[in-house]
Amino acid sequence: MKRLVIIGGGYGGIKILTGLLDQSLPEDIHITLIDRNPFRSLKTEFYTIAAGTVADQDVRVDFPEDQRVNYVFNEISQIDTEKEQIIFDDPEMEPIPYDYLVIGVGCEDNYHGVPGTEFTESVQTFTKARHTGVAIGNLKAYGKVSIIGAGLSGIEVASEIRESRPDLNIRILDRGATVLKAFDSKIQNYVEEWFIKNDVDVIHNSAVEYVEKDGVCNNGVCYLNDVTIWTAGVQPNRLARELPFEKDNQEKIVVNEFYQVPEKRNIYVVGDCASSEYSPSGQLAGLQGEQIADVLLAVLKDKAPKMPKPLKLKGTLGSLGKSDGFGNMIRTPMTGLLPRLAKTGVLWLSKRH
Ligand SMILES: Cc1cc2nc3c(=O)[nH]c(=O)nc-3n(C[C@H](O)[C@H](O)[C@H](O)COP(=O)(O)OP(=O)(O)OC[C@H]3O[C@@H](n4cnc5c(N)ncnc54)[C@H](O)[C@@H]3O)c2cc1C
Repeated sequence: MKRLVIIGGGYGGIKILTGLLDQSLPEDIHITLIDRNPFRSLKTEFYTIAAGTVADQDVRVDFPEDQRVNYVFNEISQIDTEKEQIIFDDPEMEPIPYDYLVIGVGCEDNYHGVPGTEFTESVQTFTKARHTGVAIGNLKAYGKVSIIGAGLSGIEVASEIRESRPDLNIRILDRGATVLKAFDSKIQNYVEEWFIKNDVDVIHNSAVEYVEKDGVCNNGVCYLNDVTIWTAGVQPNRLARELPFEKDNQEKIVVNEFYQVPEKRNIYVVGDCASSEYSPSGQLAGLQGEQIADVLLAVLKDKAPKMPKPLKLKGTLGSLGKSDGFGNMIRTPMTGLLPRLAKTGVLWLSKRH
């Protein structure tokens, strides 16, 4: 019996699972997928939950039913790489042993040591995004919202909230001289214009000093506000950060070309937890997941895996509410309805898979 345990059924974990289930597997392989949620969460859409523009059900998908996979839905507290087992928060849960492990538990907020971030809302888990959505939904007329960070998730959160609540006073505190520092200047200018047109204040060159229950202090100026949302950086999940393996400068686990941990080759890492030359994204996690499924399939059949090919990323799409957006499509920066429709199409495909 070979016990394969996949922890995290997100963008990376699910691709590995479906990649394996699509093939005929040797009889002696026992697959377990562990996730805190009894469904697959589409994290790329959590900004809609935070803004209250879609129902939970629209951003989750059932895990595939297959008798070759055993699901465990519980909160993991530790990966014990010495005893080769997964340990749970719930003391009544027996640890689950593995022979092969895939770590795909995604990322969490990085607060960079800023004091008072316990008063901020988040979009990094389903529960946190839902909490944010309730806080926004309960705001009185003309309430004040500050969003810290103007990367992709901050921009999507701010624009979706604007569309959901035209009455609110929305402010983005952005560390850079322009929003979306990873994108082309055409897109940056378009998004800046969108915020001017839609009455969202963007404060550039911000350096948030601390957050309080009812405000944010930035560069010596304190702004009163009702809800503060943190979108100013991520780091790998604590479960991955705690492991005694080599990490890169973002605390992601260094892997070899087969996505194996060099110190323990029976452990594979995918998505936001794995060191990569590319920025973390759902797309990257999915492509890595496809390759890991091929590697695992060979290894589980006691064959030598083929060297994975270089990854081909298709560019990133972002939304500005439901009918406007931006993105790099076929290496060309695009803005307006077309990239927004493409994003809807990608989501549709992702749900159907
Ligand atoms: C608002 C927002 C918008 C985004 N937009 C885009 C976009 O447009 N395009 C794009 O490519 N990327 C986007 N991203 C990034 C993308 O969501 C992530 O890079 C991607 O989800 C990473 O995939 P993953 O498989 O590593 O982890 P995830 O998809 O996050 O999956 C991790 C899984 O692990 C589970 N898990 C975590 N901890 C535990 C635990 N302790 N116990 C049990 N289970 C656990 C979670 O429930 C989850 O199912 C966005 C992110 C956000 C927050």
